[in-house]
Amino acid sequence: MIRTGNAGVLVTLDGTRVLVDGLCGRVGAYPETPAHIVQSLLDNPPDVLLFTHSHQDHYSATLISPYENTILRPVTGPEDVSYNPFSVGNLKITPIKTRHLGKVEPNLSHTSYLIEGSKKILVTGDSAPTCFKDFSKADVAVVPYAYCTTPSAWALTKSICDRAVLVHMPAEEEDAYGLWPLVREVTQNDLVLTVAEIGNLLYF
Ligand SMILES: [Zn+2]
Repeated sequence: MIRTGNAGVLVTLDGTRVLVDGLCGRVGAYPETPAHIVQSLLDNPPDVLLFTHSHQDHYSATLISPYENTILRPVTGPEDVSYNPFSVGNLKITPIKTRHLGKVEPNLSHTSYLIEGSKKILVTGDSAPTCFKDFSKADVAVVPYAYCTTPSAWALTKSICDRAVLVHMPAEEEDAYGLWPLVREVTQNDLVLTVAEIGNLLYF
């Protein structure tokens, strides 16, 4: 797995490559997909592109246009998602209708994705942690800061995965809301948590 941008990940599992929220713009301190990653994805396109919602820090219409215009690879989301499981390569992908955390546009469509092969990987997007109260455990969950900044959210996160991969963090020097100290205080260097840096390969 590689983090490709703010909340974007490229998941490689059983020989199939799935990009989730992987081509995005910058919003405030939340970083965009760097140009060299945009290019390497075009050079070696993933098998499918999935998007959780239309916020710019998760989705860039400009960056995905080469995929849609040439039908280079199928794109699902951020809107008009059909909530039926589908197969890509060796994997089963289940879109899960979820609710964006906090107060946002009331009609905002939001989808989380469960990717299943030899491992079970949940990519939450910006869904509220409570959406997963009854979720059966995944091997890996890719989560934004809200899953690690309160003790109750962190307890829930640990109940839904063996390993949490943290994305959607600002650069430390631009951390206006003090998210990094909060995450450190709440998770206490818990080994369940992996902090993903953009471009670094993560093995599970
Ligand atoms: Zn959002």
